Amino acid sequence: MTSILQCIDCAQQYPIHSVIYACQACGGLLDVKHDFDAGGLKITRELFDGRLGAFAAPYNSGVWRYKELVYPGIDASGIVSRMEGNTNLYAMPRVAAFAGVENLFLKHEGENPTGSFKDRGMTTGVTQAKALGMQRVACASTGNTSASMASYAAYAGLQGIVFLQDQQIAMGKLAQGIAYGATCIQIKADFDRNMELVQQVSQRLGIYVLNSINPFRLEGQKSIMFEALQQLRWQAPDWIVAPGGNLGNSSAFGKALLEMLEVGLIDRMPRLAIIQADGANPLYRHFRAGFRNFEPVNARTIATAIKIGNPVNLQKAIRTLEWTNGLVEEVSDEQIMDAKAVVDGAGIGCEPASACSVAGVKKLVANGAIKPGDTVLAVLTGNILKDPEATIGYHADQLAGITPGARNRILQADDDIDQILSLLA
Ligand SMILES: *Cc1c(COP(=O)(O)O)cnc(C)c1O
Ligand SMILES: [Zn+2]
Repeated sequence: MTSILQCIDCAQQYPIHSVIYACQACGGLLDVKHDFDAGGLKITRELFDGRLGAFAAPYNSGVWRYKELVYPGIDASGIVSRMEGNTNLYAMPRVAAFAGVENLFLKHEGENPTGSFKDRGMTTGVTQAKALGMQRVACASTGNTSASMASYAAYAGLQGIVFLQDQQIAMGKLAQGIAYGATCIQIKADFDRNMELVQQVSQRLGIYVLNSINPFRLEGQKSIMFEALQQLRWQAPDWIVAPGGNLGNSSAFGKALLEMLEVGLIDRMPRLAIIQADGANPLYRHFRAGFRNFEPVNARTIATAIKIGNPVNLQKAIRTLEWTNGLVEEVSDEQIMDAKAVVDGAGIGCEPASACSVAGVKKLVANGAIKPGDTVLAVLTGNILKDPEATIGYHADQLAGITPGARNRILQADDDIDQILSLLA
C-alpha cells in the first residue's frame, strides 16, 4: 500500500480502505498519508510541467495531473473525473488597487465544472466511494458541496443524497442539486446540525459521507495549491488568502504546501490568511483567544457558503496556521459585498463567500499585516452565477444592513428614444 489513513492527534494508522471519518481510538481527524517514494518516480516540477495541455485522462484534470501527490496508488481506470481544475490565475491590477497591494493574483475556482472548488474534492471523494464499492453518497451542505456531489454521483452512476437547510440557500446551488438528480432533503436545522445528522444517518444506512470531514476530499483540494503554484512557475507568493467555513480548504492548503516543500516543488513556505465573515467567525475568535476553549457560534452572514458556526476541520486548520505562520481575519458582510462588486466589476465575478479573500487582503493591508509590496494569491472559491439574489439585492440596495459602495443601478426608461438618449448623454 502506498497510502494509509492516520489520526492527526494520536498517529494511529488504518488501512486506506477503512470506511471511517475519525480515529477509532481518540476521535481525532484523519489524514490520508502517501509514500511519495513508493512509485520509484521522482516528483519534480518537470514531471508536472510535462503534463500541461494533456488531452487524455487522467492528466487532463487539474487534480489528477498531480496524481503522485493526490492518490498515487489508485488505478487510473477507476478515477471519476470531469476534468476539474485547470482554472485560471488572473493578475488583476484593478482589484489589486482596491485591496492596496501591487501584486495580486486571483485563482478562480468558480471556473470548475459545477462552479466551485468543491469539484476538486469531489473527484477524489467519489473515486474513493467507487473504490470502496459504495452505492450511495451523502453530504450536508450550504449548497456548493451538494451541487458538486450531485453532479459527480450522477456522473459515476451513484445515488447522491443531500441534507440542506430549509432557508437561505443560494438559488443557483439549490437548482443544481435538484437538476443533477440527487435526493434532496430540506431539513429544519442549520448547517452545523445537518452535519451531525448526515453522519448519524449514513452510519446506520451504510452511506458514504462526502463532506470535508472525509479526508479524500482534502487530497483533491490540495491541487488548488499545486496548480496555482505551478502557474506562478513554482515561485511561492508571500501570502495566500482564502475564506474559511468548514475549514476544509484551509486544511488542504496547509497539507499541500507542506508536501510541496517536502518534495522540493517550492523552496519556501508562504503565509496563509484565513478570512471569516464577522457573523460566522468561530476560528477568528479562537485564534484571538490563543486557541484556548473553542466555542462554536450561531452563524449569520450573507456569504452562505461560509455560514458555519462549528467547523469540522478545526484541528487541521489550527495545524495549518502553525505550519504556515498563518493568521485569521474577519470582515463584515458589507466589506464582503463591496469587494464582490469590485471583483464582479473587473469582469470576472465571484459569489459572496469568495469575495472574503479580497475583502480580507484589503483589511490586512490596512492593518499592516500584509505589506503593499507583498505578492498575494487570493482564492476565489465560487462562481458569480451561484447567488444571483445577493448580487441583485446589493445593486438594488435591498440588502438589510448593507450600504452598497459600488452600486450599478438599473436604469428605467419608457419606449421613448429621447428618454433613452438623455440617459446615455
Ligand atoms: C465551501 C465553500 C467555502 C468554504 O470552504 P471550507 O473548505 O468549508 O472552509 C467558501 N466559498 C465557497 C464558494 C464554498 O463553496
Ligand atoms: Zn487518534
